[in-house]
Amino acid sequence: MPSRNDPFSSPHQPLDAEAFRRAGHALIDWIAEYRETIEKRPVAHLPQPGAIRAKLPAHAPEHGEPIAKILADLDEVVMPGIVHWQHPGWFAYFPANSSYESILGELASAGLGVQGMLWSTSPACTEVETHVLDWLVHALGLPERFLSTSAGGGVLQDTASSAALVALVAARERASQFATDARGIGAFGRALVVYTSDQAHSSIEKAARLAGIGKEFVRLIPVDETGALRVDLLEAEVARDRALGHIPAFVSATVGTTGVNAVDPVEEIARVCRAHNLWLHVDAAMSGTAALCEEFRFVNAGAEFADSWCFNPHKWMPVNFDCDVLWIADRAELVRALSVLPEYLRNAATESGKVIDYRDWQIPLGRRFRALKLWFVLRSFGLEGLRALVRDHVAMARELAARVRGCDALELVVDAPLNLVCIAHRAGDDATQRLIDAINRDGHFFVSHCRFHGRLILRVSIGALATKPSHVRALGDFLLAHAMQDIATPAESRA
Ligand SMILES: *Cc1c(COP(=O)(O)O)cnc(C)c1O
Repeated sequence: MPSRNDPFSSPHQPLDAEAFRRAGHALIDWIAEYRETIEKRPVAHLPQPGAIRAKLPAHAPEHGEPIAKILADLDEVVMPGIVHWQHPGWFAYFPANSSYESILGELASAGLGVQGMLWSTSPACTEVETHVLDWLVHALGLPERFLSTSAGGGVLQDTASSAALVALVAARERASQFATDARGIGAFGRALVVYTSDQAHSSIEKAARLAGIGKEFVRLIPVDETGALRVDLLEAEVARDRALGHIPAFVSATVGTTGVNAVDPVEEIARVCRAHNLWLHVDAAMSGTAALCEEFRFVNAGAEFADSWCFNPHKWMPVNFDCDVLWIADRAELVRALSVLPEYLRNAATESGKVIDYRDWQIPLGRRFRALKLWFVLRSFGLEGLRALVRDHVAMARELAARVRGCDALELVVDAPLNLVCIAHRAGDDATQRLIDAINRDGHFFVSHCRFHGRLILRVSIGALATKPSHVRALGDFLLAHAMQDIATPAESRA
């Protein structure tokens, strides 16, 4: 032990390699045990607010504690406040799969602890990412213009929210230049306008606010009865904005809306974009994964006209959060918008123009080796394995949808083309709410809701790795039994 008088001594000795091995093996065992027994736990049992903090000391420990004690507190302190997203009965929001394969990739990334902001700060970090995202272009049947060997390319972002912001900033750059060229004046003083449907994810409006465009210049275009953006109304809004002297700049089309999995008509939207020089971004956060299978490639319609396209392997593909792929048709537009090169980052590889520096494709400077988990998953499952997962989930969703269609008390609100089933009780919102509450109280399942054309909808999002047809059948049994019972019970005797 170093002497306490030694100014360079640390009272805490960091773990040495041997202690790390032991603790690491124990933690892996703990994770495996958790996953093996997850089904015994209620999916989402929430403690009282503040209950978890109440178990924590008021101040950080002055003296370092043994790792074994910290690991034990995962059970004591953390587990009572965990919602089990990896549970086979997880049908809420979206599947957030954290496969063993991706956990290993994540661990390798943390172990290497490299920064990949420049090619030269860890060439593998850039080249594996570029290459794997090229693999995915082929695997999903997306257009060649997104390949790094063309003018485009892919980059990993943390989330679809960041992808939208990055795309919007590039679009803003293009729109301001266009305005300058066309009229001999800058865009200054004229408003840029963003268009998306009223079913689009909230991240689009957030991106517009962050990009300085402002909420009042975000046009939320109404949708048709399936939830898809109405192109006639989009065209009318664009024309109106132009007449007012604004600059229409950006459209975000959604492939698989968060609420009911609606698909915007991307090809028709692209026609409007071409006519008015608008940037076309496509947000396929959840449903993009479906394109692994030929028969679901309808989700790619219009991709060849998109300036940017994103999807989240951290949703329906078994890659743990965070992992969003953003493809861009012309990478020069992105780099022009985001590149600032300070002296301390200058290096020969960058100057040579032969490498990609991903710092110019994202908001932060620093970046971790996020591609490793995607690489682990793609290699370990193989495309065949991933396709089988998608097909299984869609088959489970269709079986549930058919049962709902056959139940007098329930309505299938929209077709379920992929892995989301949207259900309402025919007796109205109160009955739907009672159904949601009953399911979520039961402990075996967890579902979430949305509003669609004013109506309360029970969403069943299928895609957890652990979910088997038997789990969806059990949910169906529960749903149908409770829905019928609700009709049979007179309202006055319910309270
Ligand atoms: C989930 C989702 C998002 C947001 O995803 P993040 O990656 O968490 O930002 C955006 N759009 C759609 C359509 C989504 O389903």
